[in-house]
Amino acid sequence: QTIHVLLICGGGGSEHDVSLRTADFIQRELAKSPTVQLTRVTMDGDGRFVDENDQVRELRSDKLLYSASGGNSGSAQPVDYVIPAIHGYPGETGDLQSQLEILGLPYFGCGPEASKVCFNKITTKLWLTALGIDNTPYQFLCADNADEAAKAQDALKQWGSVFVKASNQGSSVGCYKVSDPEALDGALREAFKLSPYVLVEKCLKVRELEVAAYLYDGELVVTPPGEVCAPEDTFYSYEEKYAEASRARTHVVAEGLSDAQLGWIREASKRAFVGLQLKDLSRIDFFLTDDGEIYLNEVNTFPGMTSISMFPKMLQNQGHDFSSYLGALIHSAVS
Ligand code: ADP
Ligand code: MG
Ligand code: MG
Repeated sequence: QTIHVLLICGGGGSEHDVSLRTADFIQRELAKSPTVQLTRVTMDGDGRFVDENDQVRELRSDKLLYSASGGNSGSAQPVDYVIPAIHGYPGETGDLQSQLEILGLPYFGCGPEASKVCFNKITTKLWLTALGIDNTPYQFLCADNADEAAKAQDALKQWGSVFVKASNQGSSVGCYKVSDPEALDGALREAFKLSPYVLVEKCLKVRELEVAAYLYDGELVVTPPGEVCAPEDTFYSYEEKYAEASRARTHVVAEGLSDAQLGWIREASKRAFVGLQLKDLSRIDFFLTDDGEIYLNEVNTFPGMTSISMFPKMLQNQGHDFSSYLGALIHSAVS
């Protein structure tokens, strides 16, 4: 029996191009499944689905994918399962998943609420605190005005250097490291252009650890942490994440962690996955400070899956081949 899978990528956010690379990876992996017939559409800036022949397509409530030009149901194609492979708006933010829930279509990844909560850096922190999981100290700014800017200056004075972050971005977009008080206002202005809420976080001297937490045969798997090492003179910025010339290094398994640290990370990851009601997949990122403190930095409900990305590598390292993992999820969702 053929399963018709709709792969949706692109989207109107700042991570449009990264999403195309993730979609390339998923498409290659699914090509190994003989029962899957895949249609790929790219969401453009106006929210339209454009297929590989440059035709605009429409997904309607009868679970058929129509071509927008000639709308008779004879030419429409069934959709059994959807992969919303969009980082940032409107995929990782949960908006697209809400629409799929309304259509009654099964899809890969977390539901609307978990997606929304985890994509917003403020709500993530509120939830982590509610779940009793340590996260980086921060100050919350809810308006681009002088009072809020004064709070940010106080935070900078207290912490020496800070990360200014737009609350609703990923891939390090809208994320600025600030040590000079004179540079703070500029960073706040940039961040507020991208988001109505901004965080000013204590800058930690850290190792960055990441685990993949995902469902395999219905069981929650938490991998041992991997590590990303940004160059000394910068942080894990957009360029270091994706550029050809990136100097960042990744290790599928981080070295030199104590059993207690490994246990803490594993427990926090499980508590986050279960408490936030994640589904199918996530990459959960931690900071380990020089003093041995561990903080949960963020939960990525739809992590990058480019050829250099950590999530597929960490699965592979568990002996979980990505195409079989996704293939099994698809088959169980549609059967
Ligand atoms: P994004 O969702 O865009 O990935 P992150 O919160 O993960 O945002 O921040 C991006 C990067 O900035 C991190 O991978 C890390 O390199 C650096 N960073 C963020 N916050 C801190 C912090 N509090 N201390 C040290 N480095 C940080
Ligand atoms: Mg993120
Ligand atoms: Mg991150």
